[in-house]
Amino acid sequence: GAEAQVQTIWSWAQSHGIQGEAVKPAEVSEGLGLIAQRPVNAGDEILNVPESVWINLAAVQNSSLGKACEGLKPWVAVALFLIHESSNPSSKWRPYLDSLPKSLDSPLFWSDEELAELVGTQLLGSVTGYLEFLENEYNNLVEEVLEPNNKIFNPAVYTFDGFKWAFGILRSRTFSPLTGEDIALVPIADLVNHGKGLGDGSPSWVRKGTSQFWNIGKGSSDLLTVRASANFSAGEQVLMQYGATKSNADLALDYGFVERDRGSQFSPGIERDSLALSLEISPDDRFVDDKADILEINGFQCSMQFDLSRGQGPSDEMITFLRLSALSGPDSFLLEALFRNEAWGHVSLPVSRDNEEALCTSMLEGLKAALDGYSTTVEQDMELLARGDLSTRMEIAVVVRLGEKRVMQELQTWFEARLEELDTLEYYAERRLRNLGLMDEGGYMTPWVFNE
Ligand code: SAM
Repeated sequence: GAEAQVQTIWSWAQSHGIQGEAVKPAEVSEGLGLIAQRPVNAGDEILNVPESVWINLAAVQNSSLGKACEGLKPWVAVALFLIHESSNPSSKWRPYLDSLPKSLDSPLFWSDEELAELVGTQLLGSVTGYLEFLENEYNNLVEEVLEPNNKIFNPAVYTFDGFKWAFGILRSRTFSPLTGEDIALVPIADLVNHGKGLGDGSPSWVRKGTSQFWNIGKGSSDLLTVRASANFSAGEQVLMQYGATKSNADLALDYGFVERDRGSQFSPGIERDSLALSLEISPDDRFVDDKADILEINGFQCSMQFDLSRGQGPSDEMITFLRLSALSGPDSFLLEALFRNEAWGHVSLPVSRDNEEALCTSMLEGLKAALDGYSTTVEQDMELLARGDLSTRMEIAVVVRLGEKRVMQELQTWFEARLEELDTLEYYAERRLRNLGLMDEGGYMTPWVFNE
């Protein structure tokens, strides 16, 4: 059973130089996790894992796959090696590999029926994008590496599903600084679960080099040290913050869970409901070339993504982009070459009533269309969550789609309020007069210009 498996992996870890008296693996509600064996303080080093047991590029290079994997992206090489070792009964990592989850809850692994719960969401778009990316990677791999080396890579073992699983494992179990070129699976250290209530303090994973002076020529012997990110009492599970800037959609994609509890359980100061809004200047816009020019001068492009979180409202940059995008008619003189360098500055403040109204209406239309694209309403989602009997995957779907809709509703409220304010804003023409000293603060022409 699970108890025996935990014992096996812990014995294996200790016989491979993994040190940590302060913690011990155990079964917890998140799967496996690490339990404090004594009171642990924030900053305490609770676990050391030598590089000799990491599953990283160096391990691939020292294996029978080394030559065939030369030149591959580090994560792809490590993924192939993970598949290789998983199918090897006498792998040095056997107890670790046996403890890895066989099925993952990231939407990358959902059935079509489960994915249907995400209709209308941005998350579904990301999932589709990732799957296409993975299929591409895999097809290239088949052509360039797997088939040419089919003595090493048995096609029945190196399947697309296997590759996707390996990707999911790497995605959910690797943490900075052991990512990118340095990507590494670190047994036992990867048992630390995410703590919802944790802030984003010092990093939990720290790489320590011991190789530089003493082991020249013997290969490196770095350590991965896990530091406690908070205080934990004996018997409590040690947790870390997986990412303070990750949205629920990111958490779902990477780790297959979301944060739904607000209040004390909810990460303080962290907003998980988010939306990445893509806006673009239409290629059919009469002034698209001028607008593109102005955007480029200011370091932007015709299609831009704005990351919105709940409780934030649109950024100044987004509103500026929208003003430029909506600029037309009598306001288009601001697009003249003469104004090139100041144009962005001019549109960073209200230009005209028509312009401001146009950007509000087009945003409201876009938001309404997007909200209509979801299969459920905010109220329906809240009812589903209140029932409390949702499966893990269904809960992920409902929390994410509800979060996206709430951000959109907030935006609707913001732009509706803006429409109400149109008469109270100061526009380009008034601003210009005031700056020239031709109008006083109250908006009246100064007498020497308009003398009765
Ligand atoms: N629990 C993992 C195991 O059994 O191997 C060890 C942690 S591993 C780095 C990350 C995975 O643990 C996630 O993909 C998710 O499945 C699970 N997990 C971690 N924190 C969680 C949380 N707060 N809620 C739900 N699942 C969590």
